[in-house]
Amino acid sequence: MISDDQRKALIEEKFLFLYGSKPSVWVQAPGRVDLMGSHTDYNLGFVLIQAINHNTWIAARPRGDSIVRIASLNRDGIAEFDLSHIEHAKDVTWSDYVRGVADVLQKENYVLKGFDGLVHSTIPFGSGLSSSAALEVATTEVFESLADWQIDPLQKALLSQRAENEFVGMTCGVMDQYSSAMGKAGCVLLLDCRTNTSEIIPVAPGLQVMICDTRAERNLTGSEYPERRAQCEEGVRILSGFYPEVHSLRDATLEMLTAQQADIDPVVFKRCYFVIEENQRVLDLAAALASGDHQKAGRLAVESFQGARDLFEIVTKEMIMMFDAIMGAPGAFGTRGAGGGFGGCLVAFVRSDCIDSFTEYVKQQYTRNAGIQAEVYPVQSASGASVLAIE
Ligand code: ADP
Ligand code: MG
Repeated sequence: MISDDQRKALIEEKFLFLYGSKPSVWVQAPGRVDLMGSHTDYNLGFVLIQAINHNTWIAARPRGDSIVRIASLNRDGIAEFDLSHIEHAKDVTWSDYVRGVADVLQKENYVLKGFDGLVHSTIPFGSGLSSSAALEVATTEVFESLADWQIDPLQKALLSQRAENEFVGMTCGVMDQYSSAMGKAGCVLLLDCRTNTSEIIPVAPGLQVMICDTRAERNLTGSEYPERRAQCEEGVRILSGFYPEVHSLRDATLEMLTAQQADIDPVVFKRCYFVIEENQRVLDLAAALASGDHQKAGRLAVESFQGARDLFEIVTKEMIMMFDAIMGAPGAFGTRGAGGGFGGCLVAFVRSDCIDSFTEYVKQQYTRNAGIQAEVYPVQSASGASVLAIE
């Protein structure tokens, strides 16, 4: 991985080339991995998450007017917009994440200052490690560091989520932005997505979290995620007719669901079954990690993967090939898909003393079976967004 010094030099050089000066403000916001809790966040349940040591940096320099210019070392193009009149990007479409944050902050009456900015990220895009949330949270961090107001980290997460929901048009839950803003180094967070409060879960030693990236092209029409959400809502609509205390799938039990099976469309039934079980697995995994029951942690991950494959149907053939490679590898306790599914990374729980042999085996096996070069690497839990330097 690129060192901080190399990264700084790379950014400074490009910044000078683009804007003719040096940046004066540096911020970072991390990506995240969900250890458990697929599609439980918008069902107002629990997720077990950690911010990771792969992050997004933005280097910036205030301009003294209301213009924002933003470029990225990870993507082509330089976007320019006026804070007094924010429109969606016509080209450089990734800048919508930055525009969205500016738009939402201004709607909440935060006074913003224009800047020249350059983004650099070590989070792979669209792999389930939340590069979009890191970009949004880093953007709030830049605006805050240039202003004379402050926002607490939870507000940063919620406003960044709104930017993605309302401006970008992706109806994601809060967990990505929450981890990026609120992560704690050395810990995992058990987040309650109903109250937006979290508990810090200490992790017993001996278990290493590994990212196993399928690097497979995603073939999504864009309807898969909203479709799953709608199916969960449909389940709630029916269950709440029988059980008024059910306001979201978080409130439902498997007993309630199976008792009403005859009234529920079979696909909706499967989706709800998965979410209700997954929600319980989040709590069970938190307990297993805290007590050092690594075999149980692994079993829960495998059950999550199987449910995602058979009930929620968000697993691709490359994910299955990666699962098989991981489960045959030395030191593997278990694994599941990270993020929303449909490709991207698997997160594996591995014996801490087997990292190298695990990595070698998984890469070799997966590449042979899928014909795609896998990326396999350990991640450490990291702190949430912060200002790195103001010069
Ligand atoms: P994920 O959040 O899982 O990585 P998304 O599809 O939600 O996947 O977000 C990925 C998109 O976010 C990218 O395609 C790009 O538009 C934008 N993005 C994230 N980080 C950067 C960056 N460093 N530079 C430019 N665009 C970025
Ligand atoms: Mg995203």
